[in-house]
Parts: sequence; structure tokens; C-alpha cells
Amino acid sequence: MKQLFQLLRFTRPYTPRLILSVLLMAIVGACHGLVAILAEPVFDRVLDPDADSAPVPLYEIPFADSQLYLNDLLPEGIEDIWALVAAGVIGVFLVKGACNYLGGYLVNYVGLAAVRDLRNEVYGVVLNQSPAFFQKTHTGRLISSLVNDIEKVQVAMSHILADLLRQGFALVALLWVLIQTDWKLAAVSLTVLPFVGWPTTRIGRRIQKTTRSAQDHLARLTQILQETISGNRIVKAFGMERFEMGRFHEVAQSVFRDSLRYVRQQAIATPLIEMFGAVTIVCLLTYARGQILAEQMTPGRFTTFVIALLMLYQPVKRLAGIYNIFQQALGAAQRILEYRRHPHDVREAPQAVEMPPFCEAISFSDISFRYPESSESALRNVSFTVRRGEVLALAGPSGAGKSTLMNLLPRFFDPSSGEIRIDGQDLRALRLRSLRDQIAIVTQETFLFDDTVFRNIAYGRPDVSREAVAEAAGAAIAADFIEALPEGYETHLGERGHRLSGGQRQRITIARALLKNAPILILDEATSHLDSESEMLVQRALANLMKGRTVIVSAHRLSTIRSADKILVLDGGAIVDLGAHEELLDRCTLYRRLSKLQSAGQVTG
Ligand code: ADP
Repeated sequence: MKQLFQLLRFTRPYTPRLILSVLLMAIVGACHGLVAILAEPVFDRVLDPDADSAPVPLYEIPFADSQLYLNDLLPEGIEDIWALVAAGVIGVFLVKGACNYLGGYLVNYVGLAAVRDLRNEVYGVVLNQSPAFFQKTHTGRLISSLVNDIEKVQVAMSHILADLLRQGFALVALLWVLIQTDWKLAAVSLTVLPFVGWPTTRIGRRIQKTTRSAQDHLARLTQILQETISGNRIVKAFGMERFEMGRFHEVAQSVFRDSLRYVRQQAIATPLIEMFGAVTIVCLLTYARGQILAEQMTPGRFTTFVIALLMLYQPVKRLAGIYNIFQQALGAAQRILEYRRHPHDVREAPQAVEMPPFCEAISFSDISFRYPESSESALRNVSFTVRRGEVLALAGPSGAGKSTLMNLLPRFFDPSSGEIRIDGQDLRALRLRSLRDQIAIVTQETFLFDDTVFRNIAYGRPDVSREAVAEAAGAAIAADFIEALPEGYETHLGERGHRLSGGQRQRITIARALLKNAPILILDEATSHLDSESEMLVQRALANLMKGRTVIVSAHRLSTIRSADKILVLDGGAIVDLGAHEELLDRCTLYRRLSKLQSAGQVTG
């Protein structure tokens, strides 16, 4: 229920349309009732030669002591009863059709628009979550939920909502007609009806079960086919033909049995329903005959009653089906709405300020960090300072905490304790956007979008000029290969840039970082998977990127480490030493060991 109201909140901007559609659907429902009511004058007046020409009463108007006459609904001058009834029938269907069309359109509009807003909002919420959220959440499940769950809600909010209104009002109108016509008969019929309907729903459920079983067996057949055809040699080599044949026959027999059961169930359903129908009609007729003979009822009235009863079948059936779909949709809605409730791990303070251009230093003081679901700290009491223009290299074995440390600076995560300051300002006091604007990140995983080279380099800079992109590509040693692509900068890279080699992809991401031209650079260096020529090109591109910037680099190459201003040696999340290459070689055993490994060509981290 709560979810339903939360969902309905999304329809609020469209309230006038919703109200109008409810009104229109109410008219459609009333028309259903009128169709049944019109049977009465047809049988009692039009088809009865002795009928008088008094006004044709349609219905007593509830809560008012007057009658509604068909004559009132028609223009002056039409007196002939048949003309009246004929015009009434056509008029009712005309109004019903028009209202159904417009009401259905409007209610679908409201549902679809509300789901569009919901989808946009949820995407915004998910996109703004911190990396910790994406780590915790299973990607497949997240995407499936964002696509399938929203689809379910969409169906419920559009088609089903329309049907609910349409059938709901029809149900009310038809019940009204039944009770007005003969309330005693209505009470009896409505009590008996569920007992009549029950066996048919049972058969329906069994048919569904059989269908599912048949599908399972068919899938199994396909699987055996696929296995034994593609694994044909293995089957032969092990002499398993007879065994596989037997397996196949067995499943084929199950398919046969399911199909026969389906035929039986299908074949019994119709006669059963018809039989129940016949019994009901006979009972009704027996009662009506007595009433008509006693002049308590006219044949026309009785016909109206039967028609209304038969017409009731459709709304009841539809509404019963709708309940299931709504149940599913509410489950889906719950999953979706949960994302909206998910707290943001990294929040922007309400009074956050724009970060002024970086000019002095970045300082980490007494930083500790533990991943949410981990029991061990990934960083322990880490303190250091990087001045503007310096290159700080992080060295340490794999798992030492280098990536974690780099993730704290753009606030992908917030430290568990301690403070990170840029030019004396705590990161948490800065606008996230302005902080991240001043940081460029190049990671080991090169991520390219399924778009053109140009837009991949200019990602996040929609108004940048072609020259600027070309210049960045040049500095990233990427201009040559890009120009050799079939459409140059306009070449589509395909999914994740699969058309390019690893080194080329990396140079595109370097060009992207160059174009961003942020004063602070976070670099996760890893070139282990590149051949030496690509490695040299990437190396040159990186040197261009680092020029004039403040860099924190998770270093894997001795050359990078050597040229750094300072080296921070980490182990198990704690600082082991901090200094320049030569000093560390002298005094730090871990560093000596790491350098030895690196100069032997092995890559750490
Ligand atoms: P490095 O970059 O030096 O190889 P990391 O910063 O990736 O080291 O990892 C530091 C420690 O944190 C390791 O013990 C690692 O297992 C742990 N760790 C890294 N990422 C996560 C995570 N998402 N959740 C839990 N623990 C993590």
C-alpha cells in the first residue's frame, strides 16, 4: 500500500488529466450499464405489438424521486419508440467509444509520464551513488532491476491502470443494474456465481501449469540436441549413442504427454463453462417464468438482467487478472523505490563552497580508512603533504593501499577518520563538482564510451573546439593513429572501444585527461600488458600529461619512481617511509626489495 502511494505521488503533476480520465472512464462504465438497460424497451416495447407509446423509462434516478426517460435524452420531435431505442443504442456506443478512447489515452499518458519521471529520478539517484554503492550492488541485478522492474511498473501504471478504471466502473454500473432490476435475484446470482466460476479458474490454472511443464521439457530437448550435436565426437568416442537416444526419447515422451494433457484440459474447459452457463440460465428462467406469469417482471426486464449478468463476466475476469499483475508490479516498485531511499555514502555538505583554483598543497593528516564490508583497515594513520607541482609516487606491494589512498582525494570514498585538506580547506567543505573539476584521473582500466573518438576525448567538455581536441591528442601521442582511422576523429569506437589496441585506448584516455587540463593528476600506472613500443608511446604521453601538474602516481616503473619528488612507501595500509629514491634505497629494506623487483622487470601492485 505504501509503495502504491509512493508511486501515485509521481502522477501528481498530471492530476487534471487523471481526474478527467477517471470521469471519462466512469462514463464508459455507465454506458456498459445502459447497454443492458436498453434491452428492456427493446423487448417490452419495440418487439411487443401491444406496447403503448408512453415515454420509455430508463431508470429511477437514485436519491431523487424521479425517473430518467429515454425520451429526455433525445432531440424533440422523435416520438417513434423504435427510432428512440435505435438512436439510444447507437448513441450509447458512440459515447462509450469516444470516452473509452480519450479516457484510455489520458490514463496511459499519466501512467507513462509518471514512469518516465520515476525512471529519470531513479537513474539520477543511482548515477550519483558513490563507488562503494556500485561495489556492493551486483551490476547485473542493478541493470535488470532498472530495466525490467521499471517495465513491470510501467505496464501496471499504464495499461493496467486504464483497465482497472474501465472494468471497475463497468462492474459498479452492471451491479447497479442487477440490483435495480431485481435485487433478490441479484443477491442469489451473485452468491452462486463464485461457485460456478471456481472450477473454470481451476482448469485455467492447470492449463497454465501444463504449459509451463511443456516449455521446460522443450527446453530440455533443445539442450540435449545442442549438447549432442556440438559434442558429437565425444558421444561417438564414448559409444554413448544408445544412451543419448534413450535420454532424448524420454524427454520427447514427456513433451508428448504434456501436449496431450493440454489438449484434454483445453477441450474440457469450453463444454464445462457452457454447461455451467446452461444450468445457470435454466435456473434463472425457471424463476423468471414464475415472476413474469405473476406479472412481477416483464420479459424485457429479465433480458436486461441476463445481459447485465453476462456482461459482468468480463470485468470480473479482468479485475482478477489485474490483481496478480499489480502484485508483481508492487514488488518491482518496492525494489526500485529502495534505490531512492539508499543513503548516499558521500554527501555534499549543504554549506559547501566552490573550490578556488588549487595553488599550494594537498595534505593528508592521520587518515584511516576501512571498506564498509571489510574488518581490516585499508589505510592506517597516513599523513603526508604534496606541494603544488610536486610528483608523489606511491610504492608498495599489492594490497598496500595505494589505490585506496588515491580514491580518497576525489572523494569516491570518505576517510573513516582524519582529514584531507587542499590549500587548507577540508574536502568535505567543498562542492563535489568543483573539487572533481580540478582533478584528472587516469586509471589502469581504460574506459571508453560507445561514441566517436572526438566525443570520447571531449567527454564532459561539450563545447570544446576541434583544434583543442587535436592538440590534446597530439600531446597524448594519439593524433597519428586517430587520423589513420577510417573517419578520423568521427570514427565510432564501438562498445568499450574494442576497435583499438590497449595502448591506443590508454592514449585516448590520456588525451581526455590532457584536455580536462586539471591542476591535480591521479595516475594509476600499469603497462604490464603492453608491448615495449606501445609502452614507450604511453610513457611519452604520460610525461606530457604530468608536465606542470601536481601528481599522485601509483608507480610501477622504476623510471617513474626515480623521477618523482617524493616516494611514499606503503605496506599493509601504513606508511613505512617517505623520501627521495636515493635516501630510501639507503634506509628502507622494503623499498630496496621493491626496486630490485622492478629493475628485474617485474611489476608490482
Ligand atoms: P593497492 O592499490 O596497493 O594494491 P588497494 O588500495 O587496492 O591496494 O587495497 C588495499 C586493501 O584494501 C587490500 O587489503 C584490499 O584487499 C582491500 N580492498 C580494496 N578494495 C576493497 C573493497 N572494495 N572492499 C573491501 N576491501 C578492499
